[in-house]
Amino acid sequence: MRFARVIVDVPIEQPLDYALGDCDPASLVPGTPVLVPFKRSDQVGIAVGLAADSALPPDKIRPLIAPILIAAPLGERWLKLTRFAADYYHCAWGEVALPALPPMLRRRPVARLAQRVEKMRAAPVGVATADAVGSGADGAGPAVPVLRDEQQAAVDAIAAAAGYARFLLFGVTGSGKTEVYLHAIAATLAADPAAQALLLVPEINLTPQLEALVRARFPGEAVASLHSGLNDGERNAAWLAAHEGRARIVIGTRLAVFASLPRLRLVVVDEEHDPSFKAGQGVHYSARDLALKLAQLAEAPVVLGSATPSLETWAAAQAGRYALLRLTGRGGAARSEVELPRVEMIDLKRHPAEHGLADPLRAALRSTIERGEQALVFLNRRGYAPVIACDACGWLSNCPRCSAFASFHKGERQLRCHHCGWQARVPAACPTCGNQDLSAVGHGTQRIEETLQLALPGARIRRIDRDNTQRRHAAREMLDAMHAGDIDVLVGTQMIAKGHDFRRVALVGVLNADAQLLAGDFRAPERLFATLLQVVGRAGRSGQPARVLLQTRHPGHPLYAALARHDFPRFARDQLAERRAMRLPPFVHAALLTATSRDMSDAVGLLQVAQGLGQALMDGGAAGAVKLYDAVPMPLERLAGEHRAQLLVEAARRSDLHAFLVRWLAALRREVASQKLRPRWNLEVDPIAI
Ligand code: ADP
Ligand code: ZN
Ligand code: ZN
Repeated sequence: MRFARVIVDVPIEQPLDYALGDCDPASLVPGTPVLVPFKRSDQVGIAVGLAADSALPPDKIRPLIAPILIAAPLGERWLKLTRFAADYYHCAWGEVALPALPPMLRRRPVARLAQRVEKMRAAPVGVATADAVGSGADGAGPAVPVLRDEQQAAVDAIAAAAGYARFLLFGVTGSGKTEVYLHAIAATLAADPAAQALLLVPEINLTPQLEALVRARFPGEAVASLHSGLNDGERNAAWLAAHEGRARIVIGTRLAVFASLPRLRLVVVDEEHDPSFKAGQGVHYSARDLALKLAQLAEAPVVLGSATPSLETWAAAQAGRYALLRLTGRGGAARSEVELPRVEMIDLKRHPAEHGLADPLRAALRSTIERGEQALVFLNRRGYAPVIACDACGWLSNCPRCSAFASFHKGERQLRCHHCGWQARVPAACPTCGNQDLSAVGHGTQRIEETLQLALPGARIRRIDRDNTQRRHAAREMLDAMHAGDIDVLVGTQMIAKGHDFRRVALVGVLNADAQLLAGDFRAPERLFATLLQVVGRAGRSGQPARVLLQTRHPGHPLYAALARHDFPRFARDQLAERRAMRLPPFVHAALLTATSRDMSDAVGLLQVAQGLGQALMDGGAAGAVKLYDAVPMPLERLAGEHRAQLLVEAARRSDLHAFLVRWLAALRREVASQKLRPRWNLEVDPIAI
């Protein structure tokens, strides 16, 4: 063997060939990180094979520098998973594999790496930090609840799965899904002393809570957590513990799907519908979808859990491809003992909102506080108002860099674009006509907070959104204060909706859900239903009856009707019927080619070239049944100064789509290079928005 094939983090499809030089081929088993020269610098790559010869001319082949032998090579399954992801998302293997390595392996290795690794091995992993343990009311009472029958049945089904099996664990918030995961993990670890379990969760700010719970329930186990809130040292240590099998439980956000877990025996994806499982930058992979592939490669069961499964998952469960495990009770109680909150509509046409609040909601808030109970007010829009306007000339506070408004943030006296981060002082007068009477239009959380203060004098009102939780621990302090009963009304964005178990909340007000109801994206209703059901689930969790009041101009909308009945299956049935009729996923398989440029015509131009290439493939009979749409500007046409256009491709069969994409992208890469087209382009398979 004279050559090593090496993948590096560059968009070149094939592995690169390097001469072995002085390296011992025995030290280069597939999966070994290696240092190689690339262009004018050295880069870390991964050896994926050895070869007796190379198709490259000898003068093009450079010797590799050295293998990085600090840990066992990456396993075959890990190589297969990253390879699969690269093929599926149509990018280079190295573009998936290298970013998944811990920082210590990704950068040019520094001196004494081996000693540092020795230290990591000696240090205990997964010792609960004071931080994590102190979090919230859920923090880890080690008492293990006795499972209800339906929970036990779910655990038994998962534990009985021999090899790869897919489960959807479906149950409302509080129905005890987390308990099922914990028991399934316990059963997995008990069955095999080396087994590892992976628990994927959507949000970093929820991992500490869950982590504390897991650590408390598995006091003898090393638990590694992998998420973007870790510093390099923490990430290195957690990665290594997982890779070496010392950590038997790994909790992480989407990037953890690429952790190296040699003895993986169970995969759990909590809140599987959550959009944060889809990577928004770089390779647009879906960690949820890859978790299924991972489980298949590991011949292990995979559990997707949700109160509002993605419609793709729900359709698969309905078709019998995933086993459906249903939880119908709540906490320790069976269904008949459970009272779900009553959801009522406030018709804004009959009760017009004043400063954002309709009378019936005001009255309900007042009486809730008088009874000494707590309320949540949910509004998915931060800032004071989404736009300010000049009544004299019609000027609106547009972001100069995006095709969107800049929001008014009153306390900071700023205009801020929530898309690109642009900010500026609020002008004292209209920039166009000099009029000093500018008005705030619409309501954000800051403005509702103000309204509530006026409407509920003396009440303790707090707000929680991204603007006032930048400081470390700020969010947790606020949530702790809510748990402790030091807040009467908490107003906020999604941040109040996720995972927090507020036991004394008797009323939830929902404002401006209509905005999303009418949004153009095909997934908007699914998202809205998920968010609202989660918000609704915040109320009355310790048994007292709770009310949810939703302000709307469309009180009869089927989505709200299904919400009022807590009826996800009905909602999903309606939505899937609509998707089928409109030929939308999951009834077609789609990919979205996007191009960005300073100039819209360049962006569209590149896509038109792509369209021509695609058409030629189809005319030549080289493509199966795919459909190419026209290039159009994206819904948010301009972002941070860049114009953006998109081209949709779809096919009834996934294999047709992929076969087409392989040829099409190869042709496009050639054309872009030969014509020197400047716009950047990107392909997203299974696009999240169309
Ligand atoms: P989910 O993950 O579906 O939101 P959890 O598993 O977090 O639900 O359960 C919600 C609450 O009910 C938790 O406080 C949990 O400890 C409790 N709980 C779950 N199952 C039981 C049970 N069988 N008996 C008693 N309490 C339970
Ligand atoms: Zn004006
Ligand atoms: Zn902007």
